[in-house]
Amino acid sequence: MILPIVQHPDPILRVVCRPVTGDVTALARDMLDTMYAAPGRGLAGPQVGVTERLFVLDATWKDGLPDPRVFVNPEIVARDGRQVNEEGCLSIPETPRRVARPAEITLAFDGASGRREERFAGSAAACICHEMDHLDGVLILDHPEAEPADPA
Ligand code: ZN
Repeated sequence: MILPIVQHPDPILRVVCRPVTGDVTALARDMLDTMYAAPGRGLAGPQVGVTERLFVLDATWKDGLPDPRVFVNPEIVARDGRQVNEEGCLSIPETPRRVARPAEITLAFDGASGRREERFAGSAAACICHEMDHLDGVLILDHPEAEPADPA
């Protein structure tokens, strides 16, 4: 089911979300449907009016490599390096901004068989940081416009 996406400046987008405690299987499926339809690469709970700590992500489907992921009670436990990308937000259409993010992160989250950790780099790391911001009521508008990354 495709859900309506909450738009800035709705105050729901500014809520610091609470931990997920119940079953969010059906919600996560709807969030993935909504993300793909938008179309986007990530969608966080508050963007569909649910102020709980979960987001969905597929950093590669636009490149032809679908990889739907659901992250419940995520926490960034390590950050390394720096990257700068132009980011968009489904809650703030037509307002891209260059945002500096870590180049690599380690994310802890609730998996099917308990808490687990996974390492992410590149666009997946940047997308995850963007969605993590949503869980704390932070938007790309709150970040200073970053200088373009130095050529490698
Ligand atoms: Zn966003």
